Parts: sequence; C-alpha cells; structure tokens
Amino acid sequence: MVEKRLFGTFGVRRTANDVLTPEFASRLAASYGSIVQGTVAIGGDTRTSTPMLKQAITAGLLSSGCDVVDLGILPTPAIQYAVRNYYDGGIIVTASHNPPKYNGLKFVDEFGIGTPDDMELEVERLYFDDEPTRVSWDKIGQIFTNESLIDEYIDETLKRVDVEAIKARKLKVVVDCGSGAGSFTAPYILKKLGCEVTTLNCQADGFFPGRDPEPIEPNLQDLINTVKDLGADIGLAHDGDADRTICIDEKGNFVLGDKTFALVERQMLKENGGGIIVTTVATSQAIYDIAEEYNGEVIATAVGDLLVARELKERDGLFGGEENGGLIFPDFIYGRDAAMTVAKILETLVKEDKPLSELIGELPVYYQEKLKIECPDDQKQEVMSNIAQEIKDTTDFKLDTTDGVKILKDDGWVIIRPSGTEPIFRCFAESDSQDKANEMANWGISLVEKYRK
Ligand code: MG
Repeated sequence: MVEKRLFGTFGVRRTANDVLTPEFASRLAASYGSIVQGTVAIGGDTRTSTPMLKQAITAGLLSSGCDVVDLGILPTPAIQYAVRNYYDGGIIVTASHNPPKYNGLKFVDEFGIGTPDDMELEVERLYFDDEPTRVSWDKIGQIFTNESLIDEYIDETLKRVDVEAIKARKLKVVVDCGSGAGSFTAPYILKKLGCEVTTLNCQADGFFPGRDPEPIEPNLQDLINTVKDLGADIGLAHDGDADRTICIDEKGNFVLGDKTFALVERQMLKENGGGIIVTTVATSQAIYDIAEEYNGEVIATAVGDLLVARELKERDGLFGGEENGGLIFPDFIYGRDAAMTVAKILETLVKEDKPLSELIGELPVYYQEKLKIECPDDQKQEVMSNIAQEIKDTTDFKLDTTDGVKILKDDGWVIIRPSGTEPIFRCFAESDSQDKANEMANWGISLVEKYRK
C-alpha cells in the first residue's frame, strides 16, 4: 500500500499554528471538499486554536464548492451523528485527549465514519501533487448553522434508554468534562436523567486549567476524591472531544476501559438476546467469555476505532468497542460515543440494582502486561513473518495475523504489533495470572529479539 503522508489513525493531528496553520488546514479542507462536493458539517472542541482552524477549513471548503454547516462547539460523536443523518461529510476540529498545544482535523465520510484509506490517499494526492478544486465566483459555497443539533443529539441519546427508570433512582453523580466539549452535553444529559449532579471542570476552557484532557487515573484524582467525599454512586470523566467515558465506582476506584466495555456488552446482549459484537484483536478474552454466555458472536478487526465502526456497519452489528473504553452503539453513531456510554451505564446500574463495584466484580478477571521493544521500520514485516512461521512450524498454538502476530495458547495470548508511528513493536499479553501474563509478554519480546537484526 502507498504510505500516507499526513493522515494518522483518525485524521491529522499536529501542533496548533506551528505545523497546523490556517494555510495548511484550509488547503487540506479544500482537498477533502474537492472529493465530497456537497454539504459538509463542521464543529470542534474547546481548544484555543479551534476557532482559527474552523475559519480556515470553512474557507477551504467554500472555495472547493461545498456548503458548510457550522455546528459550533460540541462532542465529536454529535458531529458524526449529524453527518450520518443530514450531510455529505464532516470535519471535526479536535486533538481528542492530547495536551492543549495540539489540535487536529478528523474527517468523516457520509456515514459519519472516519474516512477510509483510499479517500485519505486521494486527499493527500490533491494536497501535495495536484490542486484542489477551486470553483468560479458564482459556485462558491454558502455557510449555514444548525443551532438545534446539540439538543437533538441529547434527545436521541435519551431515547435509547429507560429515562423514567433512571430518574426514579435519583443517582448521585459527579461528572468531570475536563473543560472539553462534553461541558455542553454531559451535565444536561445527567440532569434530564434525574441525577443529583456535581460538576468538575465543566466550563469550556482551551487552557484546560483543571486537568489534562486525557482521562487517565493520575489526571482524575479530584474526581476520585469528590466521589468519595460526597458518597456518590458514580464518577464520570470524558476526554477533550467527549467520545470516551471513564468511570469511577462508588468506592472511588478507577474502572479500566475494558471493564466498562465488558459490562455494557453484557447488558446489550442480555437486552437483545444476543448479537454481533465487534472489537479489535487487542481486546480482552472477557469480551469473548461474555459473548459465549449471552449468545453473542465476536468479530475482531485490526486496531482502530474506525475499523470497528465500519465492520459494525457492514455486519449489522449490535455493539462494539475498544479496550480503552471507547464504546460504539451503531444504531445511533458509527463512532465512539461518550454520552450513550453514560446513559447505558446509568441504566445498567438501575436495572441490575447493584453498585458499580459489585457489577464490575461479576465480570471475568484476566491479567495483562504491556511491553515494547525497538525495531527499525524496514525490518518489521520480516520479523513478523519469521515469528509467524516459527509458531506454525514448531507449535500447535493458534495464530491470528489480522494486525501483527497474535499467538493464542490455552491459558492466554500475546499479540506482537508494529507501531504505526514509532520504530517499535508493542507486546501485549493476557492470561489468568499476572505471572503468566508477564511471562508471555516477555516471550513475545524474545521472539522479536531473535529475528531483529
Ligand atoms: Mg477522543
């Protein structure tokens, strides 16, 4: 395949106004607009550079002949929802969970799914090797707005859960939006669900004064302490563009993303009597165990939320997700959605009538180890084929080469994946004890060492 020159796993992410200048953004948007030739929705998160970049992409899109609908500041999934239902394409100005100096452009197709490889290569070709379409003065696009979209996104989220049942419980909830785009949706959704809401960092601020936009445990100490101090039922945190939700249980424990995924998977399968679950090859065996118990079928794609979303669409799947807590409800949005995740988790708490810590305690337990090892990019392919060949020739272990090399033993697995951005392999192992997981991850490292020159 031709190497991409700009696009990463979801769009283009760079330092704002250094690499990601108005000129850069405008020409890239015009290249995308040249292909779409229709109405493009735009919006973004709360970063200081977002208004500047929105103006730049607007100019680029109008110049290529596209009409632009400016949706304002709102979560990434709300824009994906809007595109799927009303528009021909979309550009979201956000750097998701990255620090404040970064920004990015996420491009989506007509279904609101991150753009496919062939489209990204065509955008890059127009940007570097050709010229974007520049229409004549009488064909320049127009700018529209859609002020009601954010309310519609909130209402559509609520339609998909039992609002009355949740209201009746009057859950005590602390929500930390990290001053990101969720500030415009999350507190309102919780209010409409009858919760007693305490907000942290729910004022939009591109300097992210309260905490870093990435919802990892060290950044969520205020949330954890507030949940404990108030005796709340749950704490919720979003990343900068509010497509991911992280939970804190009623005891103040940080709940790992794969646990939230497994919990919601169980609920979705129970309610629907089974269905297709899509995830990536790097996801826990717990997802398979639950599928087996509740009549589900698991399909694993290569790593990347776009790939999971696209597979869900193609296979008419019920639900999907990643181990980082990005959950996809494909009847609503073909992408990770933080709001629906919140609504579904609160509904689960109420329907199961148990505290979150107890629900998490019911899930299958596995132990994981993540290691990495350096390897030059030009050797990666050969290292992987040699490892796969050795396993085939010398063992009975099952192999999965969807993404890197995944080796499945009876009591666990290890996946050896080349990084797309760094000269390293990541070795990720899972087993029924921590010792075994460590041992398997180290075995993966030793296999790379054996074939690396
Ligand atoms: Mg995000």
